[in-house]
Order: sequence, then structure tokens, then C-alpha cells
Amino acid sequence: MPTFPDKATKFIDWYLEVLDAAELTDKRYPVKGMNVWTPYGFQARRQLDAVMIREIERTGSLPVEFPALIPQTEFQKEKEHIKGFDAQVYWVTKGGATELDVPLVLRPTSETAMYPVFALWVRSHKDLPLNVYQIVNTFRYETKTTRPFLRVREIHFFEEHTCQVNEAAAAERVRSNLAAFAEMARSFVLPFVAVRRPEWDKFPGAFYSVALDIPVGGARTLQIGTTHHYRENFSVPYGIQFEAADGSTQHVHQTTFGLSERLVGAVVSVHGDAKGVVFPSSLAPYQVVVVPIVSGAGADGVTAYAEELVGRLRARGLRVHLDASDERPGAKYYRWETHGVPLRLEVGRREAEQKTVTAADRLGQKRPIGPADVDEGIVAALLEYDARLRTKAEESFAASFRVARTLEELQARTHVGIVSWCGAEACGHRIEEAIDGALLGTPEGPLPVDPGPPGECVGCGSRESRWALAGQPL
Ligand SMILES: [Zn+2]
Repeated sequence: MPTFPDKATKFIDWYLEVLDAAELTDKRYPVKGMNVWTPYGFQARRQLDAVMIREIERTGSLPVEFPALIPQTEFQKEKEHIKGFDAQVYWVTKGGATELDVPLVLRPTSETAMYPVFALWVRSHKDLPLNVYQIVNTFRYETKTTRPFLRVREIHFFEEHTCQVNEAAAAERVRSNLAAFAEMARSFVLPFVAVRRPEWDKFPGAFYSVALDIPVGGARTLQIGTTHHYRENFSVPYGIQFEAADGSTQHVHQTTFGLSERLVGAVVSVHGDAKGVVFPSSLAPYQVVVVPIVSGAGADGVTAYAEELVGRLRARGLRVHLDASDERPGAKYYRWETHGVPLRLEVGRREAEQKTVTAADRLGQKRPIGPADVDEGIVAALLEYDARLRTKAEESFAASFRVARTLEELQARTHVGIVSWCGAEACGHRIEEAIDGALLGTPEGPLPVDPGPPGECVGCGSRESRWALAGQPL
């Protein structure tokens, strides 16, 4: 069996090879940074979408879908925003052979597609809040090295856009997004930290940005989502205003919440191991694979029992795959381990006769289940697997952060650094230079580890400091 590069020392090599082996994406498409969703990968994406939809709709958000093309005239209304995206947009300048009067932008994100229409939808305070989301593809001409799921030019994008009655309501919406994300992250078994980005690293046009970061080994971090408070920065240029209860005309305060297929990349990055991908059962295309072992006598009985078992488990709502291919059992075990299937059920002659199964989970635990209530036993094994995956992920998460009292300590880059920072941009940049990375920002809520009160700023020695996180974003 082939082995993968070492995850700890050659992370990106490991990541790319594991994705190939698991057949989650095909990166041979002839446009750089635009990959093909394979059947297996698409099924993971469908689960990702289902969880995002479930959690956002719980908070009262409704689905919409806006067009992919945005007129240049609308795109350019908010100055910071256009400055931030100018180098990243694809332009459509022709319809057939005809030059378009107004060139069209292929949406890199949908503020400028939605907000002219929001200005028509919002009239009165009774129209607020307006909370809508869409899951669409967006396009960004990435200049950095592209990586499947992590940095792509065609993004499978979840974006919520809201209009609120005032600044406090918008701040509350940001908190509500963070709570919704905590539920999503729980589903995907992804411990994360919410960080308010420093001024120089916020979303173009935002009042402030809160990013969701996860550690992925050493000082490396991965931003897996963001939520932004826009204040009136977009509603003024786009004219989104309403008649307030007192009769005055006011501009709405807006927020957005963005997620993407990066979450699939995050799950691979966090849980994957030397054998390949490890899926939590929430995201797994197949939660269970049944492998019949049909050599020699009793083969018919084994096949019949395996098919019956698959039918019963599917009736319970589980995603089950029956691997009836001609491969040897050992090759099948290897294949489904690489693909990250949480639970493999081996069914041979003995199991078929005794109405039992041998269950092997992706974390290496193997045990017989049955004959009493085999189905219940399988469901319980899956739950127990997720619980162990969670414990493992939480331990690894907590161990990924370390307080650095000086820039020298930070430079070791063995962990994501927790540093005292005075808040000055100059000190922020000093920290970034030391780590050849980024000052991620200040935590929203508790830190992953309790470091006690902050000390002197590692940049200037000021005692007026707060805790901040510093790492090397992928
Ligand atoms: Zn300082």
C-alpha cells in the first residue's frame, strides 16, 4: 500500500495526496484553481450544505438567489470594497461579438448584486430585519497558489446578507452568526476560535470583521469563515433606507456571514491521518460501508445478509454503501480507510450465520456487534466514534496554542501564539514580521487556553495590552 507524506512536516504535500487518494476532487480541469467536484466529493458538499442551511434557517434567515453577473456601475459604488476586490474580479465584456455597454463583473461576493435590490425591498422599519442567504458559486482571480477546497478561483460560497434597524441590532446579528457557526462546527467536529481581525485585515468596506480560525499544525491557521458588521458603509452608497417608527428616514446597518467549501478542506486538514481522510459522520458521503467477504462456500447467504443489512440501515436514514466489487477484502479496507468512512462492517460466513457484524471504525477500533439488535449496535458505534473523534480534536486544538511572552518565543513557530498586544498597528506589524505571518486579532470570547491577565505588549513593552493571536494563515 502506498504511504502519504508526513502530515506534521510536509502538510501541503500530505493534503494534496490525501485528497487525490480519497477522490474528493479532480484538479486536472484546464483552468487553474477551478476543480471538479467528483461524485464522492459532491456528496460531502451536500452534507456541508445541509448543515449550513439547517443552522442558518434556525436563526430566521431565508434562502434567495441573485444573478452571477453584476454591472460595473453597481460594483463600483462602495469605494473600499472595489479597492479590495479590484485585482480579483473576472470581467464579462462581450455578449457574443457585441461589446457590452456596461461591462459585467462575475460576482466575487454578492454585496453589490444584492444591495441595489435591497434598496427596493426595504421601505419601513416593519421590513426589518431582512435576513437572507444564498449558496452559489463565486469567482475570484486568486494570485496566490491555489489549493483544492482551501484557495480556489471558483468558490462554493455560502453568504448571508442582512439589514438591521441599527448598529446594536447588527452587532447582535454578528453574535447570532457566531452562535450558529458554533453549532455547525460542532457538527463537523471542528474546534475553532472567533477572532476580531485587526483594522488592516478586515473585509473591504467593513466596520469590523470577526473571523473563525482553526489551527492546522505548528503556527499554521486556516480561516474557515467570517462575519462582518458593515454599519452604514454599504447602505449609504446603495440607498438602503427606511422610515423609522418616529417617521425619520434612516439607513440600515448591515451584516454578512460567509462560509465555503473550505470547511471540507478544514475537516480533511484537522482529522486526516497517515491513512488518509477521516470524516465525522455528519459530513461523510458514506457513514457506513458494508464489505461482504464472499470467498468459498456460503457466498449466497453472505450476499443476501449484507444486502438486507444495508436496506435496514438505509431505512434508518444512514448513508450506507455496499462494496460488492471484485476487489480483495484487504484492498477494500484500504480504499475506505483512505476515503475516511467512519464505520466499516465486515460480513463473512460466520456473521451471516450468526446474524452479527464485525465493525471497524476509522479510528482503529474493531469489535463484534450483535446478534441482539445489530442495527442499534451499529448506530451506537457511530455515535461513539464521533465522540472519540471530538475528544481527539479538542485535545489537539487546546495543545495548538501557547503563550509567547517575547517576539523570540513567537519566532519558534511551534504553536499558534497567544501574545500581549497594545493594539497599535506598528506593534501588530512587528509581530507579523517576527512570525512571517499574521496578527490574527483579538478573541471574541474566551481563549482556547486560559493564559491569565495579559502582560506587556511584545512589540513595545506597554502595559496597556490585551491578548491577541498570531499565526501563519494557510
Ligand atoms: Zn505595542
